[in-house]
Amino acid sequence: MKIKTVEMVMSAVSSKQYPTDQQSEIALSGRSNVGKSSLINAILNRKKLARTSSSPGKTQTLNFYHVNEEFYLVDVPGYGYAKVSKKQRAEFGVMIEEYLTTRDNLRGVVLLIDSRHEPTADDVTMFEYAQYIGKPILVVATKIDKIKPSQHNKVFKQISSKIDLHAANVSFLTFSAETKLHVEEFWQWIEEQL
Ligand code: GDP
Repeated sequence: MKIKTVEMVMSAVSSKQYPTDQQSEIALSGRSNVGKSSLINAILNRKKLARTSSSPGKTQTLNFYHVNEEFYLVDVPGYGYAKVSKKQRAEFGVMIEEYLTTRDNLRGVVLLIDSRHEPTADDVTMFEYAQYIGKPILVVATKIDKIKPSQHNKVFKQISSKIDLHAANVSFLTFSAETKLHVEEFWQWIEEQL
């Protein structure tokens, strides 16, 4: 995909703030620190569009990136962040659930999982939720540059131990924001959903 324009049009906390133009959306989800901001910056070829974890004051909002004025990438806030209070976690759950369950123009859910770790309980919940709402899912194993090439096939097995990567409408990719491995394949999956 050729990225002509990207604009962060909205940081939403409720459905009233979602874009109203009915264009297709793809949600990007994953636990905090999984490499989601780095992936967004890498695929959009922008250095600091999405703020990485080290940025102070990172807020829990749904960020809508309008790409080529044609569709939206929706950055779902990272879950499983230890410093968040119980009350914040509950509000956050409601916000994500409201978005996922009510959004008809949501075409697919990307679930990021760190190549070095087994999926967490939160990852499994997010995966099952995406299956429950019946959206196509792309599981992306991030930071693959940290794994020796001879071990890459083990990443698929490790993730498969908790998540059914062979299920209908589920795709899998390894990815690196550092080397940009599989940026093209990532866009290809997105184009197929739009
Ligand atoms: P987020 O919280 O999911 O948005 O994660 P970030 O994008 O902020 O990344 C968390 C940490 O992982 C940062 O220190 C990044 O530099 C690092 N990181 C992210 N993606 C990659 C990658 O593909 N390869 C390597 N080696 N490090 C990465």
